Amino acid sequence: MKRLILFGAPGSGKGTMGDLIQRDFGYAKISTGDILRAAIEQGSADGLRAKGFMAAGGLVPDELVIELVRRRLSAGDLDGGYVMDGYPRTRQQAEALSAVPSDSEQAIFIEVSEDEAVARLLSRLTCRDCGAIYNQRNKPPKVAGVCDRCGGRVERRADDNDASVRQRFQVYGERTLPVIGYYERMGVLARVDGSGAAATVYARIKERIA
Ligand code: ADP
Ligand code: ZN
Repeated sequence: MKRLILFGAPGSGKGTMGDLIQRDFGYAKISTGDILRAAIEQGSADGLRAKGFMAAGGLVPDELVIELVRRRLSAGDLDGGYVMDGYPRTRQQAEALSAVPSDSEQAIFIEVSEDEAVARLLSRLTCRDCGAIYNQRNKPPKVAGVCDRCGGRVERRADDNDASVRQRFQVYGERTLPVIGYYERMGVLARVDGSGAAATVYARIKERIA
């Protein structure tokens, strides 16, 4: 099966693009942020462990995230391919993922300026139940506070605040950018301009999906 990996800074649009790819290509979407937020909502031990790291904008420990992804990858609904949003974020995670066989692997790096990404994050709204992504400025839900897709509650994510956003960018530069280099050296990385409207960025990405 095919594995597509989306890279990009927080606010670069990985989640939104992952949703569109899921819709059009029939890939399963695997978002570690969504998996972790669901664990927190459920009040599970994994969620309790992850919560503080996420609120502060740090990374959840590799060993926990790698285990959650291992469980997700063994769920058995991935025959049509899958797209990963937010994983791998560290070298150790990348190595764990490389050990999982795939028929073909492609990585897409969505590049945006930090200013644009921060502006998006600070006006972003997210569905607590299904993870659908909205934006106060240009893509609000039809009914304020209510998810178009599932009727769940739409609100600002706890970590979409100034201090946490700053920390997420720092961690992204230190831990995740080197991982992008790892895929570039393997020759499977495409870079896409992530500025502009979602439909515009998506058109650029579609052209690159092989
Ligand atoms: P964003 O890309 O906007 O930062 P995500 O939903 O992908 O948002 O991630 C939110 C938070 O969840 C991260 O700041 C981090 O704390 C945690 N997280 C998500 N994916 C990973 C991962 N692969 N490794 C470690 N922590 C992760
Ligand atoms: Zn929803």
